[in-house]
Amino acid sequence: MIKALGYFIAIIKGSLITTRHFMVNMWFHTLKLFRIKTKRKGAVTIQYPEEKRKIASRHRSLHRLLKREDGKPRCVACMLCVTVCPSECIFVEAAEDPDPEVQKVPSIFIIDLSRCCFCGFCVEACPEDAIRMDTGQIEFAEYSRDKLIYDLEKLMG
Ligand code: SF4
Ligand code: SF4
Repeated sequence: MIKALGYFIAIIKGSLITTRHFMVNMWFHTLKLFRIKTKRKGAVTIQYPEEKRKIASRHRSLHRLLKREDGKPRCVACMLCVTVCPSECIFVEAAEDPDPEVQKVPSIFIIDLSRCCFCGFCVEACPEDAIRMDTGQIEFAEYSRDKLIYDLEKLMG
């Protein structure tokens, strides 16, 4: 009997919390309807994935490596991004470029996205503006970790 009463009280408590959220949101939406500005906005449900929220232009999304005019990566394999990465998820191997104007190029450039924390330090550290996180791609979930390892080809798209 006492156990049943406990369940009943829990149900009432839960219902009251749901009702409170509903009423608060309804209040803010009603104020908006009458063009009354408030600091807080009513919660909005986005029907993801059918409906997608617009992401801010400064949002750090999937990385990309920029190309030079000849199609080669702009990266000069300086290793600054490798050094600064707090997740240690970038691997770069340098190679000599036949063009004497270009000292080095990456023969291997890998980012393990399963470890990346999307801090953007690699972008900030790059002296060549060779790496950016402005693709706007935020949906790259995979069933296996291996597929989250992005190499030169994938990063240069
Ligand atoms: S965003 Fe941060 S964690 Fe991810 S690769 Fe760049 S430096 Fe590393
Ligand atoms: S910091 Fe820039 S130039 Fe240096 S290795 Fe990273 S991407 Fe390449």
